[in-house]
Amino acid sequence: MLNLYKNCNLCPRQCGVNRLKGELGFCGADATAEINRIGLHFMEEPIISGTKGSGTVFFTHCSLGCIFCQNSDISRRVSSGKKYSANELAKQYIELEKMGAHNINLVTPTHYMPTVAQSCVLAREMGLKIPFVYNTSGFEMPEHIKKLDGIIDIFLTDLKYFSPYLANRYSGSEDYFDYCLPAISEMIKITGSPTFNDDGILKKGTIIRHLILPGAVNDTLNILRQTQKHFSDRVLVSLMRQYTPMSTDLPDELNRTVTDEEYAKAVDEFNALGLSGFLQQSDSVGKDKIPKFE
Ligand code: SF4
Repeated sequence: MLNLYKNCNLCPRQCGVNRLKGELGFCGADATAEINRIGLHFMEEPIISGTKGSGTVFFTHCSLGCIFCQNSDISRRVSSGKKYSANELAKQYIELEKMGAHNINLVTPTHYMPTVAQSCVLAREMGLKIPFVYNTSGFEMPEHIKKLDGIIDIFLTDLKYFSPYLANRYSGSEDYFDYCLPAISEMIKITGSPTFNDDGILKKGTIIRHLILPGAVNDTLNILRQTQKHFSDRVLVSLMRQYTPMSTDLPDELNRTVTDEEYAKAVDEFNALGLSGFLQQSDSVGKDKIPKFE
């Protein structure tokens, strides 16, 4: 799979650069996986974090690059981590399992997918038992998601925008929804409907996350309706209200948190549509809720 770095079309930006030769595309990542932080994380959904934590691996760089990114310390083009081979990564997963992690949570893995897939296979060969979580922006090529069949157990995917205007304004990708929808269909084909272990921790399944943005609650309603229409009861939905302005040069409308009224409107629609999943509460808002990066 490593030859996928050669003429890179790992994400819908399809830059076509040869990352094996050090050429950089939109994401700014070369062909060696770079990681900022590896450790137990307790602030994912309860069926992921459980009581012992999720074994989280934060990859640096990002192929989507939202202007309001909540992890902007590590997601931009600049280097902010340490390089790992697939074999070294697999050993890190084993260490996380020994620490008690319920799963291995691969955060923003898309632009390193060939290395990530290889590391997962190696870790299984080394005896790793816990599930792999592919924690993604949803900006994916559906044909590459198919390649993760038999490797990834859980997809934790964002579904950020329905509106091409917002997708373009905030992420420079007006076709975001057009790629995300078929990509999520492929994820569900791989995982099936959610299944749990005896402790109520997710073993297999797909969770769709949606972060409510200030001033964009109508787009949230459309996302919830589309989710119900296309995926119905085959997914869990995590409705997030943690949006926090993280930089000083955001457009005016993003310089505040989500109001109680906006949140209530989204929750009413969530309930009216009969969706299942998680509703993030108001105490999740604030910079102190963002993971500390190294
Ligand atoms: S993964 Fe990076 S280099 Fe490859 S297509 Fe996407 S943005 Fe471009």
